Amino acid sequence: MVVDMHAHFEPRMLSTQRMLEKLDEAGVERVVLIPSMNDPLPETPERLLAFARKLARSAVTRPIVEAIHRLTLTQEGDLRLRGRTYGIYDRPDNASVAAMCEAHPSRFAGWIFLNPRNNPTVLDELERWRSVPGMVGVKLHPHWHDYRTDIAAPLLRRAEELGLPVLVHLGFRARGDYRAICERFPKLTVIAAHAGFPFFDDLWKAARDIPNLHIDLSSPYLDETIARDAVKAIGSERVLYGTDAPYGFHANDGSYDYRAIRGWIERMNITDRDRDAIFAGNAGRLLRLPG
Ligand SMILES: [Zn+2]
Repeated sequence: MVVDMHAHFEPRMLSTQRMLEKLDEAGVERVVLIPSMNDPLPETPERLLAFARKLARSAVTRPIVEAIHRLTLTQEGDLRLRGRTYGIYDRPDNASVAAMCEAHPSRFAGWIFLNPRNNPTVLDELERWRSVPGMVGVKLHPHWHDYRTDIAAPLLRRAEELGLPVLVHLGFRARGDYRAICERFPKLTVIAAHAGFPFFDDLWKAARDIPNLHIDLSSPYLDETIARDAVKAIGSERVLYGTDAPYGFHANDGSYDYRAIRGWIERMNITDRDRDAIFAGNAGRLLRLPG
């Protein structure tokens, strides 16, 4: 069984029909979809990703990655890449993913994508979408929505009460204070996207004292070495398979290549039991995926 717990619903890049075909072909049984938060983006050059990965692994050079990131955000909160502006949506469209959960309940589940910044109705939005079967957790993106994670406290408190896990793409410094989140809400399941980018090794080490902190292995924000080091450091019971599709690894036909990240996990020197936990067991348990 394979569960992709981090994929983007982006029919402008990968149609639902094509996605279903690719999932069947790859043997991915379940996918937890994230509502779109941005205009479709061009591919990030691998050179730049490799540079960012290397610099982010050390606290000494991490501020360089942060400075590059700040240069890509406009005053209005959009992304500026190679001379073009790409919109970041203040309010991701949860209805689109709820509709996918309703149309394909055995294939798709969904993350409720919320943005607490300048949003007095964020708790109402949580109540609205959690009532839809298959909407299994909350997604936060303080990195691109550009807020300090402490403003998410009321939302995190409610998620903890409800037993809903939170998938968070951490930002730099106060925009990604995973320790404060996990310690303030010790019963909340926190999953740091992309192996804890941009903190990587520091987060894995900190996780020894933070039992509710987990990571996913999605996206070329990481590579095979980082994935392997992460599993070794944090333990396979706290790692979940995810892709970031349709972003990142492209197949020859221009659609998504499901083999890339899967290969990293298949080649890891771990037991089959650990591999199963990463591919599906941990997601089933933490996200309480409906059967
Ligand atoms: Zn993602």
